[in-house]
Amino acid sequence: GMTDSDLDSLFLRIIAGEIPADVVHDSERVLAIRDINPQAPTHVLVVPKTRYRNAAELATAEPDLLAELVRVAGEVAEREGIAESGYRLLFNTNEDAGQTIFHVHLHLLGGEPLGGLTG
Ligand code: 5GP
Repeated sequence: GMTDSDLDSLFLRIIAGEIPADVVHDSERVLAIRDINPQAPTHVLVVPKTRYRNAAELATAEPDLLAELVRVAGEVAEREGIAESGYRLLFNTNEDAGQTIFHVHLHLLGGEPLGGLTG
């Protein structure tokens, strides 16, 4: 099965092209892929190609890169046709939030009414 270290490096392996993914955006610093277990009709993960463990570490080290994740998410939402109807952006951090991959990723969710804050 998967170890913690496999999960840690999963996105680096996807970025390196070693593991396949459904890529919806690929630029110098950011990759966006469809979630393998979607929680909404559109469920995309927007991932910096440099690894930080969570959003706060990313914001501290490279605030412009954090902003780029949000901008890319908006562009993907436009292309998916959900920018107008609406979407949700979220970061999970650590166990209580259910973070399983310790390489920061912005979830983009939409394509249906999403319900309350925690779904
Ligand atoms: P977290 O809970 O860490 O914020 O979210 C991790 C997300 O990554 C989950 O929504 C999960 O479905 C997704 N995921 C896990 N493994 C893979 C994979 O191999 N490929 C893709 N595209 N998504 C994955």
